[in-house]
Amino acid sequence: EAIGMLVAGVAHELNNPLASIVAFSQLLRTDPDLPADLRRQADLLVQEANRTRSIVQNLLDFARQRAPERVETDLGPLIDSVLGLQSYMISRDRLRVEVDIPSDLPPLLLDRAQMQQVLVNLTVNAAQAIAQAGRPGLIRIAARASTTDAGPTVVISVADDGPGVANAMRDRLFMPFVTSKEPGEGTGLGLSVSFGIVAGHGGTLRHEPNPGGGAVFLMELPVGRGPVEQTTSVMVPGQGYAVARATARSGPPAPPSTAPVPSGPLPGPVPAARPVDPGGRRLRVLVLDDEASIREFLGRVLGRSGYEPILASTGAVALEIVASDPPDAILCDHRMAGMSGTEFQSAVAAIDPDLSRRFAFMSGDVLNPELLSFATERGVQVLAKPFDIATVATMIDRLLAVDRA
Ligand code: ADP
Repeated sequence: EAIGMLVAGVAHELNNPLASIVAFSQLLRTDPDLPADLRRQADLLVQEANRTRSIVQNLLDFARQRAPERVETDLGPLIDSVLGLQSYMISRDRLRVEVDIPSDLPPLLLDRAQMQQVLVNLTVNAAQAIAQAGRPGLIRIAARASTTDAGPTVVISVADDGPGVANAMRDRLFMPFVTSKEPGEGTGLGLSVSFGIVAGHGGTLRHEPNPGGGAVFLMELPVGRGPVEQTTSVMVPGQGYAVARATARSGPPAPPSTAPVPSGPLPGPVPAARPVDPGGRRLRVLVLDDEASIREFLGRVLGRSGYEPILASTGAVALEIVASDPPDAILCDHRMAGMSGTEFQSAVAAIDPDLSRRFAFMSGDVLNPELLSFATERGVQVLAKPFDIATVATMIDRLLAVDRA
């Protein structure tokens, strides 16, 4: 527990400065005036900044010892949402995925977000193992009802036809920081995090060799036992490609990830916004953040994309702007000294309900349950820090696509 607290503390402290390093390294790399010989160095900077970002994210996932919030969950849609997020990786790595979930399985009480995280970890591991073999491969996800002395269970298996778990790894598979992967490819936390999550559900996670070659991970979960909380948790991926699917309308929640989820466009159609209104006026985006470097980064990115950035460092200043000359969209830090992000959003809603939905929170702690339930209730978006230029642009498009009354 002490290690967990230390790790979480360090990771949280690193997150804000890291957000600036990620952001400015990207700005540098995409600067059209950058001489060619410096571009290669800027590329490396971006690459390493991104790597640091995923290490910090892994540490936060590892340290987050949250009790599961279990709700009755259908496995089929849960698995579909995990695979949907990985469609890029699946086609890139020439993977075939077979899913076999009988329709008459007994219902399971799961923390959906946590279970998605487990399934992401297992499928990414399977894909990486197959990719290592340098050929197409098969991942098979199946479930079946079973019984143990303690009562009925459901066994979920994730099997691959990769090279299998190396002998030297077998005894230490579920230990934190044990990895056979190159730095940047793996941190050795996926299986230990997954093990903890499954144990938190009263279940077990184990490895067996796949009889036909490869690896099988078997997760055995108790049916309908354990405390049930009614809270629905809505998750956003923690890889920086985060967009809240925070409203009930907007489909199944996306999982966080401890593994490299491919970057790229967000799922779901996002009409590209034009940075000007029909009258030719530049659309205005208000940025409220008490961190000067984040304001500066967003100011530059927005300016470069043709928007007019309005930068505010306190809620009071930002509210004056909202009242006197309302912007078209708002990006707001969640945790600020003085007026908090949620207080600010409530104040905006009182002045201009319509604008309060063209609103995104920026947060390094996107799994924070208070933030998520607030965001869900208000229909606002969440952007994970550290973010990148593409994610910011997609988020702005999304906000500007919200219907205006
Ligand atoms: P990471 O993927 O970051 O290394 P994990 O805890 O998820 O961390 O996995 C630990 C190690 O277990 C991996 O480095 C790999 O050696 C081994 N492993 C996990 N899944 C598989 C698999 N499907 N096939 C082969 N080896 C695996």
